[in-house]
Amino acid sequence: MTSLPNAVLFDLDDTILRFSASGEECWRDVCARYAPRLDDVDAEVLVDVVLNGAKAYWTRPELPPSKRLDLPRSRREHVGIALRSLGVDDVALADEMADTFSAEREALIRPFPGAVATLAALRDLGVRLGLITNGAAEPQRAKIDRFDLAQYFGVIVVEGEFGVGKPDPRVYRHAMGALGVTPEQTWMVGDNFGWEVEAPQALGITAIWCDHAATGIPAHETATPDRVVTSISELLPREDGDAERGAAD
Ligand SMILES: [Mg+2]
Repeated sequence: MTSLPNAVLFDLDDTILRFSASGEECWRDVCARYAPRLDDVDAEVLVDVVLNGAKAYWTRPELPPSKRLDLPRSRREHVGIALRSLGVDDVALADEMADTFSAEREALIRPFPGAVATLAALRDLGVRLGLITNGAAEPQRAKIDRFDLAQYFGVIVVEGEFGVGKPDPRVYRHAMGALGVTPEQTWMVGDNFGWEVEAPQALGITAIWCDHAATGIPAHETATPDRVVTSISELLPREDGDAERGAAD
């Protein structure tokens, strides 16, 4: 699959922007600084409890979408639960730790190497680009603005603005409608199996899984992506002349 489609729909976090990889190092840093303020709690124990707590918090099946739409508040809740499990019932301290993490995490977010150049190259090759990102309007728009990404996209769908997010089929249909393309003319690229592989494939979109951490397809996943890349720069045609567009326009 070296030719390009008429349109590519991109996820934002952990596809264009390095996002989750900064989470663990950031929690380690925050926990190391706050552990001395917790009586009888070792920094490494605090790190373990906070990291495991985050995983448990975000992977529970009944997680309401509202938790994802207010990350700072959800982090306060997660840290509060973690501290209470260590016998520390201090809401103000939990909130301060969570807010410190939120600020530092935000500061660490960067585009993956080559990602922005890839968007520019695809756009310049005539591929119509869409951005579909789940989350609240303000933080997602802040990232789009901070890295000046809007210029590359013919449509941007933010969950907090649109009213529903991935994997709701209306999100993908809206983006394709705005770009004037059919599912057969479209690729969806992202790191989330449910949102960027299963749901798009059900609509007839070609699904490309972005394995940004190069860990391979998790054993529990049942869907098969049409293609796996570790960087969106792999979507660009090689420079040996196979840059022909795949679909007639
Ligand atoms: Mg993502």
